[in-house]
Amino acid sequence: SSLKKGLSKTREVLTTDIDDLFRGKRKIDDDLLEEIEELLITSDMGVQTSIDLMDKIKKQSSKISNAHDLKNIIKSEIYNLMNTDQYINEPPLSKPHVIMVVGVNGVGKTTTIGKLAAKLKNDNKKVLIAAADTFRAAAVEQISLWSQKAGADIVKHRENADPAAVAYDGIEAAIARGKDYVIIDTAGRLHTKVNLMEELKKIKRAMGKAMADAPHEILLVLDATTGQNALSQARLFHEAIGITGIALTKLDGTAKGGVVISICNTFEIPLKYIGVGEKIDDLQIFDPKKFIDALFA
Ligand code: GDP
Repeated sequence: SSLKKGLSKTREVLTTDIDDLFRGKRKIDDDLLEEIEELLITSDMGVQTSIDLMDKIKKQSSKISNAHDLKNIIKSEIYNLMNTDQYINEPPLSKPHVIMVVGVNGVGKTTTIGKLAAKLKNDNKKVLIAAADTFRAAAVEQISLWSQKAGADIVKHRENADPAAVAYDGIEAAIARGKDYVIIDTAGRLHTKVNLMEELKKIKRAMGKAMADAPHEILLVLDATTGQNALSQARLFHEAIGITGIALTKLDGTAKGGVVISICNTFEIPLKYIGVGEKIDDLQIFDPKKFIDALFA
């Protein structure tokens, strides 16, 4: 599957390298434990998660006599760490369901919006995208192209227009046109962090004026290749505007796939989508069981 292919680099660290550790050894000793811990940290699951996991491994070390045993224990303990209860997918209660998408430039926000719109269209949902990243002309152009590819409507204003007004109009248009989903793109320039967060708050308030309980979802897009930096970004956005879900992009081709485990172990915020490529169908609904199976396949 594309998930399995996408995770190949991370899998290499966790499986091939674990096999290598056990060459010529029959039981766990302190050296081996240290090497295991290093491996876990290399996969970018974060120091705390690695420590948590090492505790569990140490407690069960008498049961481990080969790489296969160790992988099985890591696999089930990772699953336990991942807060799996929060992954029950409930259908949205409101129509339109308003999704505000945030994230810093370059993480794959535009691409993720396009993929998400296409996914919803495939489920026969009516989708409208609002181009509220008015700061970059190229961003509006790009999101327009994605909306065409996905078969979604787009609401856009001229360059440098008020992003809050675009979001407001997007929701109004979606209500008038009977859409099921509104996806709202937002700016992601990082060099003016404070202004960005203020802008996002303003956009969020404008949404509430267009529709009482909007946004129903605030989806933060993070780039897996940035490893643990992704977690600092999550904290920053969550403190400023409150995140309800995470989309993690670029899991293909990175050895830092362990960051998924870190996100799931660190935050109460569910990881909802993962990006495993640049194409329109390379977005998957995150399923922890499938993820772990692909990671150790
Ligand atoms: P934005 O600035 O956050 O809107 O980022 P873009 O959506 O323009 O994406 C930046 C780059 O990342 C583009 O070259 C995308 O093709 C690429 N990209 C986005 N998502 C993924 C993914 O899941 N996998 C890979 N390999 N590339 C991705």
